[in-house]
Amino acid sequence: MKGEVKLKKLITILIPAYNEEEVLEVLLKRLKGVTSALADYRFEFLFVNDGSRDRTLEKLKLLRLDYPEISYVNLSRNFGKEVAMLAGIDHVQGDAVIIIDADLQDPPELIPEMIGYWEQGYDDVFAKRRSRAGESWFKKWSSNSYYRILDKVSNVPIQPDTGDFRLLDRRCIDALKQMRESQRYTKGMFSWIGYHKKEILFDREARAAGTTKWNYPKLFNLAIDGLTSSTVEPLRLSSFFGLIVSVFAFVYMVFIVLRTLFFGDPVPGYPSLMVVILFLGGMQLLSLGIIGEYLGKIFLETKNRPVYLIDEYYSQTTPPEEKLH
Ligand code: UDP
Ligand code: MG
Repeated sequence: MKGEVKLKKLITILIPAYNEEEVLEVLLKRLKGVTSALADYRFEFLFVNDGSRDRTLEKLKLLRLDYPEISYVNLSRNFGKEVAMLAGIDHVQGDAVIIIDADLQDPPELIPEMIGYWEQGYDDVFAKRRSRAGESWFKKWSSNSYYRILDKVSNVPIQPDTGDFRLLDRRCIDALKQMRESQRYTKGMFSWIGYHKKEILFDREARAAGTTKWNYPKLFNLAIDGLTSSTVEPLRLSSFFGLIVSVFAFVYMVFIVLRTLFFGDPVPGYPSLMVVILFLGGMQLLSLGIIGEYLGKIFLETKNRPVYLIDEYYSQTTPPEEKLH
């Protein structure tokens, strides 16, 4: 129609970054290479600097000169990737967001395909790993079995081998913004919100530079968080075990009483006594631990603190007085 100005859609690329100074330049170059070929869209590169201890922020500020698409949220300290992603999602200006790791393990070359599916009407286009280069067999195996268990015990399906690399439509962004829990397991949230999902496959590359921020204790914590934030099944599990043990104990009790009545009491039985005590002790500690996990979560959530704090926010549309920071 004559005189009608059609505004190009804005897509935000959200990049949580923690000590990623070495990789920023390569990342931006690859992102730019991909996005400059997509002339029908405008792009925003939204970095969330998650309390990096290196020069990530300074580098970003410099790189703004070459890449005017850059916006950034500087968090007041390191809050972890899950929270960094929420901070980013809160500041997305685009009609869609693509969450991508800073270390180029998620190939930006997948972005056009994601956008293609988005235009077909999908709200959540997620990239599933076909292979994982640069990771040990133990990491692959443990992550594999973990997702199988998680999927079994939680009510919402969790996509295995899927990271946070995905495109989300505006309505997914708005949905995620409403989920303010501070103990976050974002992967479970992506599943929970639902909407039209589309899976695409890719080969996960090894890190481009720098080192992984994960170690096994951290991964173990994330795994426990994943279980306890998407399901209360473990609580039921402890009741179930309790029930089974009680039934056995009852049967055994009847047996002992009858045996004593009919055959007298010769007083052996130290081994069985020990076994029962140790087993029950273990079960009780386990159940207490499970209850403790949930109690701890309730404690942290009831404090109702803000999930993160911002030191500085910059975007091209930020009013000048705020830019002065
Ligand atoms: N990250 C973050 N905060 C953290 C740890 C990691 O924002 O406390 C970011 C990191 O900069 C990267 C992404 O999360 O962009 C994934 O981190 P990493 O590559 O260390 O994890 P892996 O790929 O080994 O799972
Ligand atoms: Mg990585």
